[in-house]
Amino acid sequence: MKILVINAGSSSLKYQLFDMEKREVLAKGNCERIGIGGHIEHKRLIGQPTVSEEDLSLPTHAEAIAAIVNKLTDRSVGVVRHMDEIDAVGHRVVQGGEAFRESVLITDEVIQVIEDCIPLAPLHNPANIMGINACRAVIGDVPMVAVFDTAFHHTMPKKAFTYALPIEYYTRDRVRHYGFHGTSHRYVAGRAAALLGRPVEELKLISCHMGNGSSICAIQCGESVDTSMGFTPVDGLPMGTRSGEIDPGVIQFLMGRYGYSIDEMLDILNKKSGILGISGISSDFRDVQTAKNKGDERARLAIDLFTYNCAKFVGSYAAAMNGLDAVIFTAGVGENDAAVRRDVSAYLSYLGCTLDENLNLSGGGERFISTPDSRTKLMVIPTNEELVIAQDTMDIVRNLAAPI
Ligand code: ADP
Repeated sequence: MKILVINAGSSSLKYQLFDMEKREVLAKGNCERIGIGGHIEHKRLIGQPTVSEEDLSLPTHAEAIAAIVNKLTDRSVGVVRHMDEIDAVGHRVVQGGEAFRESVLITDEVIQVIEDCIPLAPLHNPANIMGINACRAVIGDVPMVAVFDTAFHHTMPKKAFTYALPIEYYTRDRVRHYGFHGTSHRYVAGRAAALLGRPVEELKLISCHMGNGSSICAIQCGESVDTSMGFTPVDGLPMGTRSGEIDPGVIQFLMGRYGYSIDEMLDILNKKSGILGISGISSDFRDVQTAKNKGDERARLAIDLFTYNCAKFVGSYAAAMNGLDAVIFTAGVGENDAAVRRDVSAYLSYLGCTLDENLNLSGGGERFISTPDSRTKLMVIPTNEELVIAQDTMDIVRNLAAPI
């Protein structure tokens, strides 16, 4: 079964084509500058691997999907002869609200509910819908599945997801913690259980997804019981450019002092804060670590603040679960930045975590980085959100085909 995974942003569209029997990615790529120009980078990963890049006109997501179809079926850089060979398409959708507790087959009704969730994710869901509609228009009658960033967190108890606001803002307006990165947290929890050789139902895990956007998730018996992102992805940890949780009084103070509109204020909180705002150097941890190592004090503060807050969330989630079996590091920073892992782990000795610095510095891929006698394990597990989307899509499409 061949499954195309689409991750549509407002001006970009990433894709991967999976062969599910071989568990292999056949091709992947990215369309960028949609609506303001157009560029495609396409990589064929089988046979003679090739990379092809091209500037082209991509006024809308439909032209981007058409460009992807052209690349996938191209005689020299393609991987299929005809799009008929593709059995299904899986779409990443950021916000599924309370309606979607798991991945679903996309129908007109499902698109309507995703549209109804737009007020909850005004930056993300419109782009996801554009990706879905473009696929319908260009590829036609192939089954499509929506996989939601929020769905994994639907198991959070009310005491974890409720804001202490007048309750009608939840009952009437659905203002609550939703949490994001659910496909990543779900994937690494499953892999951690496999590596630990224990059923996920027995485990208390904390997954630290640290990338440009970062969130931490408490996973008990394989279910999300709390997570650091909230109503929107700006909540929780300080991130590459996002502030993380902040006293609303600060917002009122800055808006009053500088006359910012709410949009300007949100722009500061989302795009100018976090590691970038504190270091004044970059949102990229590599640049900031380099500056820190050269003695830059603001870079040091940015990294210290990030690792300190990660450790505080881990501590609070160990308390929430009343125990902990393993801490998992994943995503760009979690998988690659040994210094961040070392600094976070240093706070966690009271939880029985003992880092093995050699294992932390060496090797790659899925691995333990704690000492053999560490009561609580420390692990690195590269995330694979696209694979989760492809697997969910395959499962749903197979069920469609199964006789009743
Ligand atoms: P996104 O949230 O966009 O999916 P990623 O999970 O790809 O982000 O993480 C991207 C971030 O990972 C980069 O901004 C960079 O800070 C960090 N990163 C990537 N490679 C390394 C590395 N070798 N060392 C430290 N940080 C890294």
